[in-house]
Amino acid sequence: MSIPIYTYDTIIVGAGLAGCAAARELQNAGKKVAVVTKLHPLRSHSGAAQGGVNAAFSDEDSVELHEFDTVKGSDYLADQDAVEFMCQKAPETIRWAEKMGAAFSRQKNGKIAQRPFGGQSSPRACYAKDRTGLTLLQTVYEQADRVGVKFWDEWYAADIIYKDGKVSGVVAFNIRNMQMAIFNAKAVMFATGGYARAYKINSNAHANTGDGLSIVARHGLPLEDMEFVQFHPSGLSGNGVLISEAARGEGGRLFNSKGERFMEKYAPNALELASRDVVARAILNEIREGRGVGPRKDAVYLDVTHLGKDLIMERLPELRELAMTFLGLDMIKEPILISATAHYSMGGIPVDIDGHVRLNNKEFIEGFYAAGECSCVSVHGANRLGANSILEALLFGRFVGKTMVNDIDNIELRLASQEDAQRTLDEVASILNNKGNEGVPALRDELQQCMTNNAGAFRTKETLQIAVDKVKELRERFKNIRIKDKSKVFNTELQEAIEFGHMLDYSLFIVQSAIAREESRGAHYREDFQERDDENFLKHTMAYMNEDGNIKLDYMDVVLGKHELKARNY
Ligand SMILES: Cc1cc2nc3c(=O)[nH]c(=O)nc-3n(C[C@H](O)[C@H](O)[C@H](O)COP(=O)(O)OP(=O)(O)OC[C@H]3O[C@@H](n4cnc5c(N)ncnc54)[C@H](O)[C@@H]3O)c2cc1C
Repeated sequence: MSIPIYTYDTIIVGAGLAGCAAARELQNAGKKVAVVTKLHPLRSHSGAAQGGVNAAFSDEDSVELHEFDTVKGSDYLADQDAVEFMCQKAPETIRWAEKMGAAFSRQKNGKIAQRPFGGQSSPRACYAKDRTGLTLLQTVYEQADRVGVKFWDEWYAADIIYKDGKVSGVVAFNIRNMQMAIFNAKAVMFATGGYARAYKINSNAHANTGDGLSIVARHGLPLEDMEFVQFHPSGLSGNGVLISEAARGEGGRLFNSKGERFMEKYAPNALELASRDVVARAILNEIREGRGVGPRKDAVYLDVTHLGKDLIMERLPELRELAMTFLGLDMIKEPILISATAHYSMGGIPVDIDGHVRLNNKEFIEGFYAAGECSCVSVHGANRLGANSILEALLFGRFVGKTMVNDIDNIELRLASQEDAQRTLDEVASILNNKGNEGVPALRDELQQCMTNNAGAFRTKETLQIAVDKVKELRERFKNIRIKDKSKVFNTELQEAIEFGHMLDYSLFIVQSAIAREESRGAHYREDFQERDDENFLKHTMAYMNEDGNIKLDYMDVVLGKHELKARNY
């Protein structure tokens, strides 16, 4: 039976903030757009964002300060042209979202309220209580739907159609019934989000398995700066569910088992509002040195009781509910238990400011774009500042949509054929028919545990080598899996196996890139190379997967600018 081929001007994979913003832009300009998403759009992880979205528009703040904070936060690895673009366009982006209907929290004088976040010179995060991402996602999705974007939701994108330096579509299947389809287009955009599910303790949704990264990498295309994984300071103890930086932004304090406000030691000026990498390492260090709290002594206290019930109920109601649900602790009355949690991927699919995906350091792929967390522009460099990510997703999503509007009239549609689906058919058949004896959940658990233990906030050559060996071993064992469910209806066992294959591939990028970077910069902290080494490592990693599955590393220059290299203190 032949596989249906659907033809559009553009296909967007992913319906979070980046995907929806781009889709609306394209459809509004009269282009025919389809969004393929494995989740219903409103279940994308963007909707879980709690704390805020940055824009410098208060009297005390400036675009230049926003740029400076972002570049400093990035430990000077961010590309400064991209940072300038993002910070300049941030106020306009907030107004754009507001005009479409996003209801931001306000001050008494009617202006949009802004709260402090880590690493900021001035309170800069606009918010809608502690449900900022949900408010924005509902708004942008609604507006994309209104202008007529076609959403193919609960469709899993399994491959891109890539030949001769050009992408001309996507191969996907309907999760409800395994019906396969080819989506043929002049241009394809990836907005597939993050990958922190490779770690045992993480803040991410179950769907954040980083599929987009390995789909691209399996064609021999590069991934940039994959060693930079952000560990957020405050995940609920034991499960990593996020307690937003808003809790510290509103005045929350951290204490160890001796009752010490330990951030005084690590960041005497910024205290709890130092950048995330600094606070996360401080917490883990307190725990390692025996000053942890809780039944397993693997947490520290986050205390917001002094803020009072009214403020907590007004600005942090969801955080309170999360702590009550998962820990049985009411933050109005008592401190809660938190520790660092894998949260965000600074690296990803390399793109220029306009969202064109790179073939290598110099060339680009025709008809292929990316935006949001799966991409690496790079505005976050080695460490992202809180509330810069929703900004990135919204802003670059929208502007890459505009780029595509301009580009696609000059791109010729390459017609798809049945053979384009062959790789996906083979992948699905081999997983369904495999008669091995390994189970995916057990293998995934081993991967996640290994990544948390060996490729976490503290790393050494030895721990990273353990992780490299483990990922390679798991890849071999993955060839020997067996799944029980052979049905075609919502076969989540099959989907999870496909996703696990992706997790294995991009995890190898993380650990191989990390082992080669013999310095400490931002979120990448090597205990065996504790200093930043600008002479040898002020450069982006560009990693490629060979046909034999091994990783080859190359590097790319950082775009420097007016913010000069300095030591980073908070
Ligand atoms: C708990 C939490 C709180 C956060 N809070 C903040 C905050 O306060 N401020 C801030 O700036 N940032 C925050 N972040 C980060 C920020 O929310 C994300 O980086 C951002 O929303 C990512 O948006 P996105 O559009 O790139 O991807 P996502 O919103 O993650 O969307 C990814 C999309 O890709 C689709 N997809 C993926 N793979 C496939 C596939 N194979 N086939 C089909 N579809 C696929 C999914 O269905 C989904 O629609 C937070 C993150 C978390 C986890």
